[in-house]
This record gives sequence, C-alpha cells and structure tokens, in this order.
Amino acid sequence: MSILADQYRRVCQRIQQACDESGRPADAVSLLAVSKFKPASMVRECYQQGQRQFGENYLQDAMEKIPALADLADIEWHFIGALQSNKTRTVAEHFDWLATLERDKIARRLNEQRPAGKAQLNVLIQVNISGEEQKSGVAVAEIAALAAVVESLPNLTLRGLMCVPEATSDESQLRGQFQQMKQLFNELQQHHSCVDTLSMGMSADLELAIAEGATQVRIGTDIFGARD
Ligand SMILES: *Cc1c(COP(=O)(O)O)cnc(C)c1O
Repeated sequence: MSILADQYRRVCQRIQQACDESGRPADAVSLLAVSKFKPASMVRECYQQGQRQFGENYLQDAMEKIPALADLADIEWHFIGALQSNKTRTVAEHFDWLATLERDKIARRLNEQRPAGKAQLNVLIQVNISGEEQKSGVAVAEIAALAAVVESLPNLTLRGLMCVPEATSDESQLRGQFQQMKQLFNELQQHHSCVDTLSMGMSADLELAIAEGATQVRIGTDIFGARD
C-alpha cells in the first residue's frame, strides 16, 4: 500500500473510532481532505482510495488542479481560504462549497456569478469563535444577519458553520470553543432547514472536535504529509 493510501486509511479509522467513542454513528462525520500545496496526482490518488471531497485554500493553487482532474466527475471542491471580493467569480464557477463566508457583499457576488444550470453553491459561515482580533470570521452576534442574507439568495444554500479555533495547547479552552460552536450550530438549525454541517477539527484535534459535535473534519497534514 502506498504511503498516502496508508495515511488516508488511518485518518478514516481515527474518525470512525472517535465516532464510536462519542456514541455517534460512523456516517455522522464526513472527511474533507485538504490538498492545499499538494499536486493533482496526490489528489487523484486519494480519490482512488474513495475520497470525494477536497478542500483548497488558494485559488491559484486550486486552479492548477481542478481542470486537471475534470475527468473525476463526482469530485467535490470546497474553498476554505480567505476570499477577496475580486476573486469570487473563480469560486462561483469552479467550486461546490465555500466554507469561509464572512461578508454579505461576497455572498451577493457569488449569487450573481454562479453560472446558470450549476447546482446552488453550498455555504458555511466562518465564525471567529476565539474572538482573536486578527482572525477571519464573523463575530457570534453577526451570524444570524449573515445567515438571513444567504437564505435570501437563490443560487446559494446555507449549510452551516465553520471555525478555526485558537491555536492553543490548552485542551479545555479548545473544547470550550468547540462546544460554543455546537450550540451556535443548533440554534442556526432551528431557523434554517438546510443547515446540516458543522466544520471543525483538523489533523491535531479531530477527536476532540468529533466528541463535541463536528459533522465535518478538515484534514491536510495527516493525509498528504507536511507542507513545506
Ligand atoms: C490547512 C487547513 C486545514 C488542514 O490542516 P491540517 O492541520 O494540515 O490538517 C484545515 N482547515 C483550514 C482552514 C486550513 O487552512
């Protein structure tokens, strides 16, 4: 078995085990394979292992791979990086999901630029759950208003929330941020029927995120290796 196939299998096992340990069904959590800075050949190999959802942070990097992998009909591309308003067209035309929405202007542009005949763009609102000043994401108090804007746009579907918690080795602090996200997710679900995705947890903390209710984990390093 190749190194990538082996690492991929281990990540899938970790997810399954974390689901078991928190009494959640194995299909409660999906895996987003974060392929930033990794070549199309590695994405293809991961696809051949059964993976379908891939996450990219940088548009230029992503657009070197997406056309090269166009033969993989059911591959799903998620944009998980910071999105400037002059770059929305690339996301609207080539991606299935945007995980990092934080401004209504971006939502409106994506709605206008989504090509006719393409499925609705799935959207997660990124929440600055740690409240760090320089961090991406909306404040907790701004979620409801942005969610209402997305809901009003016919070419977008609001699917849930995403966060990148504080980089801390303090597990209880991390757990607290995941718990807060879960609560915000539950509240959002009560008002928006399409909301089903809580994206949190990366290579180092996927077990904790799953224990606290993540429905999607985003894993790069532990599948594809370190980025240099
Ligand atoms: C890079 C990245 C990941 C994956 O992180 P790893 O630690 O490599 O698993 C997940 N989410 C976002 C937003 C990222 O930028």
